[in-house]
Amino acid sequence: MTLKLIITQSVRSCETMKRPEPFKIKMVKNLKRLSREERENKIENTGYNVFKLRAEDVFIDLLTDSGTSAMSDIQVSEMIRAEQAYAGSDSYYALKRSVQDIFGFEKFVVVHQGRGAENILFSILVEKGDYVPNNMHFDTTKANVKHKGGEPVNLVRQEAYDPELRVDFKGNMDVKRLEEFIQEKGVEKIPLIMLTITNNTGGGQPVSMGNIKEVAEVADRYDIPFFFDACRFAENAYFIKQRETGYENKSVREITREMFSYADGFTFSAKKEGLVNIGGLIGVEDKKLHEKCKNLGIIIEGFPTYGGLACRELSAMSQGLQEAVEDQYQTYRHQQVEYLAQLLLDENIPIIEPAGGHAVFVDAKRFLPDIPQERFPAQALTTELYKEAGIRAVELGTSAFGETDEEGNMIPAEMENMRLAVPRRVYTLNQLEYVADSIRKLYERRDDIKGLKRTYAPKLLGHFMAEFKPVK
Ligand SMILES: *Cc1c(COP(=O)(O)O)cnc(C)c1O
Repeated sequence: MTLKLIITQSVRSCETMKRPEPFKIKMVKNLKRLSREERENKIENTGYNVFKLRAEDVFIDLLTDSGTSAMSDIQVSEMIRAEQAYAGSDSYYALKRSVQDIFGFEKFVVVHQGRGAENILFSILVEKGDYVPNNMHFDTTKANVKHKGGEPVNLVRQEAYDPELRVDFKGNMDVKRLEEFIQEKGVEKIPLIMLTITNNTGGGQPVSMGNIKEVAEVADRYDIPFFFDACRFAENAYFIKQRETGYENKSVREITREMFSYADGFTFSAKKEGLVNIGGLIGVEDKKLHEKCKNLGIIIEGFPTYGGLACRELSAMSQGLQEAVEDQYQTYRHQQVEYLAQLLLDENIPIIEPAGGHAVFVDAKRFLPDIPQERFPAQALTTELYKEAGIRAVELGTSAFGETDEEGNMIPAEMENMRLAVPRRVYTLNQLEYVADSIRKLYERRDDIKGLKRTYAPKLLGHFMAEFKPVK
């Protein structure tokens, strides 16, 4: 870190950020650094798509916080202890205890990851012509609703679209619009209401307990099932503790229990706050819906006591959930992300404010104002960052969320971001300083960065396989 950064940090940030990591490193993976020329070749060969890079060619991998957490020694030892059984393993019962204890749900279905949960739930609930309102759909959620013939609708509060506005709960649903929407389309066309906590696509922004209660109240009034997309539930709970009156003295665990007490069910990717490499859950209150989820799960995921996973993975998830709701861990987690955000803000780099729970979102519209969205500024920035420093971020902009109209014209995404997702318990503050410094260098030479032309993209979730060429 340069001296300048230390001086420009506010007193508050210095104090809160100096707290050390609440763990020590017991095992390391050595990293390799390619030369700039090697990186330029590699990215060109992928068609300017970082998803197609080999992980060993990446120095710092901020592609996602999904499935990339470091496990604790207890998780690893639980994995070794786990007995592998097709049905009724101890691992399943350990997970059942954690799910009851943390979420307060008796009924749940194990799945291989979040989109497996979405596939099962929406296959059962969503019919052609239905609408699914959400504060903001994640890419797989949106794709899974569409895949069943439904229409995903984003009803997040308008402030979410203003990247410079510092609002405590930018992920909140616009409850008034939700109610108008239900009245306009009719209850029978809305099989469920979802709320994504935290709102990943909108910058990892939290939803307040007040908003959760209001949405639950509307859902209840119209008798529509209310589900969380709960991928980052504990980070959301920590934000509530930090920002919402009445919750300062409650634990993340207590806040989590209250949040889930308002929902009829949830989908969950354990690859995030299960602190595991793979796994997911569907939680439901309704007995009939639970039966249906279990039975469809048997066809497409596996028997309910393993759900597409090895038993050792259930054990790791069961312990990981317990660690995710520890206040000490969440304090560390949020400080790590806040620290990266503060380093970038100190250099006047445009990011979505305030910083989210799992990632810092760099606003490519403001970073590269001269590149039109049809030329994928966030994708261009992402590939430049790899070339500059071997850092892999991800585009969440027009490549991921843009649409094509009937005449084949591109409809750009509302937001144009490069996401720096921070894997849990993986990188040190020193490494995050390197990330910030590399982005500063890019910012200084931003006038040299050119847009990209897309040469290929599949229809749904096209960004994973898309290919690009630099525009001259
Ligand atoms: C990651 C994520 C999903 C999908 O989970 P996978 O495990 O990647 O399939 C769904 N919703 C949100 C908000 C997510 O962050």
